[in-house]
Amino acid sequence: MRDVTPRGSHYIAGAYAEDAGGAPIDVIYPATGETVAQVHAATPEIVDKALAAADAARRDWAAMPGVERGRILRRAADLLRERNRDLSEIETIDTGKPLQETLVADAASAADALEWFGGLAATIRGEHVQLGGDWAYTIREPLGVCVGIGAWNYPTQIAAWKAAPALACGNTMVFKPSEETPLCALKLAEILTEAGAPPGVFNVVQGRGEVGASLVTDPRVAKVSLTGSVPTGQKVYAAAAEGIRHVTMELGGKSPMLVFADADIEAAVGGAILGNFYSSGQICSNGTRVFVQKGIKDRFLARLTERLQGIVMGDPLNEATNFGPLVSAAQLDKVMGYIAQGKAEGARLVAGGARVNRPGWFVEPTVFADVTDDMTIARDEIFGPVAAVLDFETEDEALARANATPYGLSAGVFTRDIDRAHRVAGGFEAGTCWINTYNLTPVEVGFGGSKLSGVGRENGLAAIEHFSQLKTVYVGTGPVDAPY
Ligand code: NDP
Repeated sequence: MRDVTPRGSHYIAGAYAEDAGGAPIDVIYPATGETVAQVHAATPEIVDKALAAADAARRDWAAMPGVERGRILRRAADLLRERNRDLSEIETIDTGKPLQETLVADAASAADALEWFGGLAATIRGEHVQLGGDWAYTIREPLGVCVGIGAWNYPTQIAAWKAAPALACGNTMVFKPSEETPLCALKLAEILTEAGAPPGVFNVVQGRGEVGASLVTDPRVAKVSLTGSVPTGQKVYAAAAEGIRHVTMELGGKSPMLVFADADIEAAVGGAILGNFYSSGQICSNGTRVFVQKGIKDRFLARLTERLQGIVMGDPLNEATNFGPLVSAAQLDKVMGYIAQGKAEGARLVAGGARVNRPGWFVEPTVFADVTDDMTIARDEIFGPVAAVLDFETEDEALARANATPYGLSAGVFTRDIDRAHRVAGGFEAGTCWINTYNLTPVEVGFGGSKLSGVGRENGLAAIEHFSQLKTVYVGTGPVDAPY
């Protein structure tokens, strides 16, 4: 295996930084369980240096014309694309996701974000409002130092989805990756520097939750953008509230996918595969409650299990592999626990259900049928390759049951009836919905959740609003009419 040891654990003020006094964090290749590198968690001194660098850089970065900031981001996008293979291999080693996936979904998606927000940077502006003889104008200003905290499933994409709009708006950032996947954000930082980002504009510090927590409450921080679980989101949101900081929370889900009897079954099965087994099911927006209308259930299950035969499990660095391991032993234990619970609560196992007998943290793609709404596997986010197939009869019933969850990240509907498609999409209590497809998240449109799944939006024009604030300037042109 290639050497992926970074030149330092952290990236601060345009250069790698190290403090071996921080607790060691092993980087483990999930396909074998072997340790491939080690980094150190940030000490309080490192956290302070990173925040100081971001704070020192923010005024000049904000003062730079948007067109120039954008040019730097677009150059970074080009570099990501040029080095896609190298970066994809690092992403695969960090996460265990197959190279077949990472070559198209990670650095490529990060490049899209940097390119798109880089293009927008020059267009960020306020408005002029005529008020008789007086007038007012608005200025869309950056917030200042932003903190990004990431989950482990898409480490490059998560870092870029936060950095690209933040930097386009003129903010600076300190990003903390998940301790499970510390490598990828460092590469993004390196590339941003190479593309011309001044020192301190994008910094990376490693560490576990406590490092994240120390960032969130620092008085220099104006905004926190977290991608993680609901329990972490609740803690981070509460901590940020103390300083009235802006937040974006991209949290977990238990999203529904409704397959009506008139649907194109092949498309729906394809959607269920993408929404349950891509990245071994470790995707927040997955449609893990697959509601299938009475009448097509047997056909749907037969095709789904048949198509799962196409899975090629193996070394994720082999491009023929299309199904990899889970990220960690802890995640494997969690997923196996849910599978055991599914069986114990009476769901019918129709595919998979076992740990794979090979090194690493592989779990078979698993399908349960005859799942009912009260079962644990229909209520909890599993974050692994486990699909729960539920039966339904009518549209009203399906929609009500789809919405009967505290989460609201995503939802999908498969039907050939155009009226129903839009009616159901309109009725979903979810931030991101799909009709006759699933899990597509282009940078051009907002992505995020409602209810417990989050606040704020990433991507699309919405992200600009979440990384900037409006200043209003009233211009008086006549005498000041005071009462006394
Ligand atoms: P966690 O919530 O465990 O962790 C998310 C990040 O927050 C990690 O970097 C973690 O550090 C950090 N963290 C933990 N505690 C604190 C704290 N008190 N203060 C500040 N930071 C803290 O999520 P996972 O990494 O396990 O990721 C899986 C979860 O992420 C799933 O629920 C999934 O749905 C969600 N997710 C949501 C997405 C979305 O866009 N909506 C996309 C991808 C995932 P560390 O882990 O290093 O200790």
